[in-house]
Amino acid sequence: MPIRQLPHTLANQIAAGEVVERPASVVKELAENALDAGATMLRIDITDAGLTKLVITDNGHGIPQHELPLAMSRHATSKIASTEDLFNIHTFGFRGEALPSIASVSRFTLTSRPPHAAEAWQITQDGELKPAAHPPGTRVEVADIFYATPARRKFLKSPRAESRAIEGVVKTLALAHPGLTLTLVEDGAESWHIPAAQGDFFTAMRPRLAAVMGQGFAAQALPVEAQRPEEGAAIHGFVSPPTLHTGTAAQQYLFVNGRPVKDRQLQTALKNAYTDALPRGRHPFAVLFLTLPPQEVDVNVHPAKAEVRFRHGQNLYGLVYAAVRQTLSQTRAPVGAAAPRPTAMPMASTLQASLGLQAPPQKLLKGAEPSTPPTPHSVQPTPTANGHTPAEQAFLGAAIGQVANTYIVAETAEGSMVVVDQHAAHERLVYENLKQQFAQGRITAQPLLMPAVVSLTPADAKLLLAHAAELEKFGLEVESYSPTAVAVTALPQLLGDANPARLVEDVLNDLSDMSPRTTLHQRVEHVLATIACHHSIRAHRRLSVEEQNALLRQMEATPGSLTCNHGRPTTVTISLPELEKLFARR
Ligand code: ADP
Ligand code: MG
Repeated sequence: MPIRQLPHTLANQIAAGEVVERPASVVKELAENALDAGATMLRIDITDAGLTKLVITDNGHGIPQHELPLAMSRHATSKIASTEDLFNIHTFGFRGEALPSIASVSRFTLTSRPPHAAEAWQITQDGELKPAAHPPGTRVEVADIFYATPARRKFLKSPRAESRAIEGVVKTLALAHPGLTLTLVEDGAESWHIPAAQGDFFTAMRPRLAAVMGQGFAAQALPVEAQRPEEGAAIHGFVSPPTLHTGTAAQQYLFVNGRPVKDRQLQTALKNAYTDALPRGRHPFAVLFLTLPPQEVDVNVHPAKAEVRFRHGQNLYGLVYAAVRQTLSQTRAPVGAAAPRPTAMPMASTLQASLGLQAPPQKLLKGAEPSTPPTPHSVQPTPTANGHTPAEQAFLGAAIGQVANTYIVAETAEGSMVVVDQHAAHERLVYENLKQQFAQGRITAQPLLMPAVVSLTPADAKLLLAHAAELEKFGLEVESYSPTAVAVTALPQLLGDANPARLVEDVLNDLSDMSPRTTLHQRVEHVLATIACHHSIRAHRRLSVEEQNALLRQMEATPGSLTCNHGRPTTVTISLPELEKLFARR
């Protein structure tokens, strides 16, 4: 075939191949045009999942009659004019491709009227222009999508899947634009109507979180807010507490300058912020908005603009990670009325003494006499072993006793009932203590009198020994024994009589789960969480009231102790009003 210029329609169809993948992408492009036109109302009306017909109506500033033919031609846009503009983009669109692309693969009609125009005008895919009746704003009708490119039509999924994809676009729009009134009508029935939200961002977003991500998240979502003025960067949004998570990353919405993006690095930053808080394989909920100077983001990487490139990606990683981390570290269940203050309790000594992890353990467990022994009905905060507990510190209350040798029941000054899972709580405390030791250099190891020989596959033995130097810092010392066995010569002292074979097995699981991309920080937190799991007050262990109180006081002094390393709650609180309700007193 000789070289020749492609006809316009064919060129547009080729462009459509990238921009218009499915009906949902048409919805996305047209909605973005409406937003660029300042619309505050958007109505999406689809028939047969948009395969038969898709109509989008907005109340934006419209297109004047004389510009309509231009709007329909390729590379025609009102949004940028120079190369400089290309790197300083403030709108969703700028490529001037959506309208001609969509029109080239469908039966297309655009009707528009600027607010002060006397009448509306309508243009079709063939460029035919005629007057029409329409209120101010724009209406785009896309019928028989891909009729002109049947091959593409064959790639579409089931109508159900296509309509779910459209709903996905609507959800994303609802989150990104709280001020937008959004309506989705499917086959004549209104399936979504989200009125414009009122109030400041954090208030306005709650109903939208509920509509899009569920009541559970809306009720529990923790606000995230941080700035880096020197970089002109900021982040705000919501994330789930460690106790709320899901099996996929689908409930994570990231926006950069209002644009939904899928970005590996930002997703990783979010994931890493939860490293020691979630069970493996679980994912947090998140809606995060990053704002950056437009010059920092290159949106011209992907025709559908789903991916962007950052000039300083590493800074953004840090911003997301630090902001989410900060939010999570401030998380404390609303126990008692007094706001817990960070305390200066010396962690290592109190923890070890109070829980009998290290000599001299017996002192507290048997000997220490609290100055005011707690009584079952005491509503006073109980003093700790060291004799003083500021009232506001004792927000977990005074221990009353144990249920099933597993749960500690306590009463707060306000009369709330606190139930603590002693195993989960202790695991968390051990973990925090290990973390502290590690941060100060290394975890104290306890040499074994008799090295424990652990049989392994040759590959596992090799993997473990390759990390021997690293593991030593964790207080776990291993040596080569044979090609199919290692000798464990020391264990972290905090673990006492842990089973070396099981610990090695779990650490190996950690090591083989880690990709080369896993950061050192993550590896450390993983391994520490695994180690912590191997020694804690097991369920079914009888504790004295003093031990119970010591555990509560230690939890109060330990950030993050209200969830265990696996993201389960360690504590459940039932307030007095809730109790009264249970007994129909309210
Ligand atoms: P782009 O959005 O990249 O500029 P499009 O092909 O999507 O390219 O749209 C072409 C032009 O048509 C836009 O630049 C804008 O001026 C105008 N336009 C499209 N849709 C609307 C709308 N809903 N309201 C007002 N103007 C619109
Ligand atoms: Mg556009």
